[in-house]
Amino acid sequence: MFKFAIIAPVLTMAALALSNSASAQTDREVNWSIAIHGGAGTIEREKITPEKDAEIRAALNKALAEGSRILTAGGSAMDAITATIMLLENDPNFNAGKGAVFTWDKTNELDSSIMDGSDLSAGAVAGVTATKNPILLARAVKDNSPHVMLSGKGADQFSREQGLEQVTPDYYATPRRLKQIEDVLAQQVSAADVDYKFGTVGAVAMDSKGNMAAGTSTGGMTGKRWGRIGDSPVIGAGTYARNRSCAISATGAGEYFIRLGVAHEICSRIWTRFLAVRDEVQATVPKDKDGVPDYYIHASEFMLPDEEVQKIADEVIAELGAIGGTGGIIFATPWGQAGYSFNTPGMYRGRATSDGAMSVSIYGDEE
Ligand code: ASP
Repeated sequence: MFKFAIIAPVLTMAALALSNSASAQTDREVNWSIAIHGGAGTIEREKITPEKDAEIRAALNKALAEGSRILTAGGSAMDAITATIMLLENDPNFNAGKGAVFTWDKTNELDSSIMDGSDLSAGAVAGVTATKNPILLARAVKDNSPHVMLSGKGADQFSREQGLEQVTPDYYATPRRLKQIEDVLAQQVSAADVDYKFGTVGAVAMDSKGNMAAGTSTGGMTGKRWGRIGDSPVIGAGTYARNRSCAISATGAGEYFIRLGVAHEICSRIWTRFLAVRDEVQATVPKDKDGVPDYYIHASEFMLPDEEVQKIADEVIAELGAIGGTGGIIFATPWGQAGYSFNTPGMYRGRATSDGAMSVSIYGDEE
């Protein structure tokens, strides 16, 4: 399925039909790919100490290395993203699990979701208060319940019944997050108006069988009230995966991601574009005297070039910006691409592929 060498002639035709530059991806053989994020926002060099910068990069590298290890060993995309997200949840630097932001009432209400692109099974939880790793609870909803989304007390109860590790509220609390909520309460500003509202974690991957998965976990927004739920646990907004098109995890001002259905929107556009480009390339295949093509291009022999995928992700993020939303997404595709798109100054992020490429970045001007 991912033997790009075999399909290179077809891809070259596609690239020529679409743009003047052939895709850099066409010569590569990618068996698996993974991308991760640790939140997007006003992340600028002058706001982060060198020590914090190094700490965040080390945490992202550790999470990426674990996901890569699982995928290299032939593990599933689902297992790779679960393990990766758990590491980020356990790290107090990120707004998920330990280190989650506080609500207006100085509690922690965690949201998480997970989706399997091979069968469209999905699980999500919103406003949970005692599970150490909410991503495991989202996965338990997906695997062990007939539902997609559970919330509040019921979700907490389901977590206990599933035997997941429970923690007391002090587990999530960190001095940094307490200071942030105290600032918000002192200023009496809304959750949407403060600068430290981001920090969600997420991962997307394609495994060596071509299966895709996506997951997201967050404490939401500092100072959120009234049981506010963002995009992170909303399948189609903050998380989506479908083997034929892509896996997406989002971070940013959740209300806007919900309005646009960002994660699903990107996957749908990739699929629609894929079909259109395949038809364009099919039209270039020589035909016999009766008009029958010499060859029919099968979906599995064809891919969208890197720049096409990037363009689609960038367009949706531009539309998010146009309605006032800030944030970003990570993507993985069935063709081995792994990348990002965001409209904030920075996004904690990383990606790795089976051909040995691996990188971690923070600021917008990095790769
Ligand atoms: N998207 C999350 C929310 O709105 C916040 C974030 O990504 O930092 O709850």
